[in-house]
Amino acid sequence: MMTDIRTTLGVRPIINVSGTMTGLGASIVVPEAVDTIARMLPQFVEINDLQRRASEVIARLTGGETGFVTASCAAGITLAIAGAMTGTDLAAIERLPDARGLKDEVVVLSGHLVSFGAPVEQSVRIAGARVVPVGQVTSAYGYQLAGAITERTAAALYVVSHHTVQFGQIPLDEFAAVAHEKGVPVIVDAASEYDLKGFLAAGADVVVYSSHKFLGGPTGGIVAGRKDLVRAAFLQNIGIGRGMKVGKEGIAGTIAALKAWERRDHEGIRARELRALELWKIGLAARPGITATIVADPTDNPLDRLQVNVDRELAHITAWDLADALAAGNPPVIVRDHEVEHGYFFMDPCNLHPDQEHQVLARLNEELDKAQQSNSIIATPLADRRKRRVASLLRWPD
Ligand SMILES: *Cc1c(COP(=O)(O)O)cnc(C)c1O
Repeated sequence: MMTDIRTTLGVRPIINVSGTMTGLGASIVVPEAVDTIARMLPQFVEINDLQRRASEVIARLTGGETGFVTASCAAGITLAIAGAMTGTDLAAIERLPDARGLKDEVVVLSGHLVSFGAPVEQSVRIAGARVVPVGQVTSAYGYQLAGAITERTAAALYVVSHHTVQFGQIPLDEFAAVAHEKGVPVIVDAASEYDLKGFLAAGADVVVYSSHKFLGGPTGGIVAGRKDLVRAAFLQNIGIGRGMKVGKEGIAGTIAALKAWERRDHEGIRARELRALELWKIGLAARPGITATIVADPTDNPLDRLQVNVDRELAHITAWDLADALAAGNPPVIVRDHEVEHGYFFMDPCNLHPDQEHQVLARLNEELDKAQQSNSIIATPLADRRKRRVASLLRWPD
């Protein structure tokens, strides 16, 4: 048997029930992409030609006119905004992020100004533009968007994600109609969305995805949409895009992942994911203080998760201490804990290797047994946990 590469490298072999998290290695890269990457790496190729081939596949899958591959979705956002600012003016492209003489404002709903691991707002500022927030965090209307657009507005950015506020926002079709009325192009960050056609169909001019999330491609980003805007974004590769470049393996691997996506047995995969969720739900049913419910994805991706509510009195542990115990044990199991202060975490089945669902259930049982046997309730103050995370980051590489 081959040694686990992670053991060879001296890192912990984690089980990911958190989702397509960049910080955990994003996703299981599909075999078609792995094979293509291995065959591409030793070869030379004219990169812009390879990007032309990528454009054809991206156009077919997204319904956009043109597309290209870049380093990441975050890079794609920056390049799309830069393109909306400079057009095909190569001198302006070389001057960025100095935006003198260019339109340099980007309107974004306040409820969309989230962090995906870095602030969305920073992806805009890297291009030399600044964000003009629209509306309030929990409510935004078309008149506010119209009122925020000026002669300096280069683009309107719309974020589709579970991170954003999930109510009170302007729907994309209305957002696009208002922006278009003022002649402003709409760029959609759909990094983690399964729907490859819907956002362009709803009025977006450019849409940006991650290659390494649901698609199971290598680390990369996909920019797709209107030809003039995508071309202008692509041209940033001779400017600020240089530090965001993708290599031959990233482009070829993304093409392979997109083609594999066309042929993927989406229903079969969903059924397998549901079996894992049912296994955990039934396995946790008799546990004191644990309520497990299968819940739909908040942005309507065809994906369900298990919401595990933890009653600290009955379970003898808080939701976050349970999450931390699962992550600290052997094998480490990383759950989705971004809302854990509410007393629950989620378990995401989309990145499981065969049989890992059983290991996950065994680890849950192990930690819940330990908690039951503990004389006192395991309850770390949440503030300490948050401070610990920041302190640990600042200690890197120690
Ligand atoms: C993950 C994510 C990003 C960043 O994607 P990368 O490809 O990792 O740069 C941007 N926006 C949203 C909404 C995301 O979920």
